[in-house]
Amino acid sequence: MEKDAKIYVAGHGGLVGSALVRKLRAEGFTNLVLRTRADLDLTRQADVEAFFNAERPVYVFLAAAKVGGILANATQGGDFIRDNLLIQTHVIEAARQTQVKKLLFLGSSCIYPKLAPQPITEDCLLTGPLEPTNEPYAIAKIAGLTMVKAYRAQYGFNAVSLMPTNLYGPGDNFDLASSHVLAALLRKFHEAKIAGASAVTVWGTGTPRREFLHVDDLADAALFLMRCDDSGELINVGVGEDIAIHELAMLIRDVVGYTGDIVYDTSKPDGTPRKLLDISRLRALGWQARIPLREGIAATYAWYCANYGG
Ligand code: GDP
Repeated sequence: MEKDAKIYVAGHGGLVGSALVRKLRAEGFTNLVLRTRADLDLTRQADVEAFFNAERPVYVFLAAAKVGGILANATQGGDFIRDNLLIQTHVIEAARQTQVKKLLFLGSSCIYPKLAPQPITEDCLLTGPLEPTNEPYAIAKIAGLTMVKAYRAQYGFNAVSLMPTNLYGPGDNFDLASSHVLAALLRKFHEAKIAGASAVTVWGTGTPRREFLHVDDLADAALFLMRCDDSGELINVGVGEDIAIHELAMLIRDVVGYTGDIVYDTSKPDGTPRKLLDISRLRALGWQARIPLREGIAATYAWYCANYGG
């Protein structure tokens, strides 16, 4: 990738998009094309086509999506399937029409069956029923990566689909109704510490296991795969180990410096029991995550304090 190649990062205001922009700038890429949602609504096909025809980006990172945690997915499934289908269909089609050199599509580990054998390999795709709490989102993402694959077969479209595990980091969503677990717990423990509260409530039983990848590691993997000629069609991105939610809660309590109790609200869903990706394909290409979980949580907590007033 030439340093002055025109690169469109769709969704640059989000957790992943902002990490990609940081990474690309740090690597010396100077010709980034960015549009806020107010400037370009990706759910409107004519606007997306006009934008691609005018700008003609050479590389596209498709990180624009409607995302959310377990509760948001369970309660706004209609919005999740509609917005994601529209955004990805329009961007992928416009990229094909304007002969983009390579597109990177961001999927998610929740596209895999709820009870997939662990760690989950890429070939588990479409081998069993999905986790019901995020089925609309997962089906939209599966449609996206199937579209990319079919475009490759029919049109020779050059693209790679990344399946990142649960992400966290600076720029995360800390709204308790829609956030993912790590950001939610950072905020809950922080607020309990400030308020001197006696306990923090964690959803579910605390037994589900999740794998957490710092978004700066994901951005590094994304650039690596954009540059890689044999990146393949579908590739998992993770750290290779998982942690139970109750262990995560204790780790975050420790990082935040809260000394009260942890209680579990079992009226809230656990979601899928375990989600650990098999990352052998990515490892074989020569990439590995670098940010240890505790360090990544501490950096994210510092970011949260700096941006939400401590
Ligand atoms: P998931 O990986 O798609 O299930 O998404 P989440 O990050 O939202 O949830 C992961 C796990 O953390 C689930 O078992 C949740 O029940 C659990 N969890 C515990 N406390 C919280 C919380 O405060 N917010 C969220 N979003 N999840 C929580």
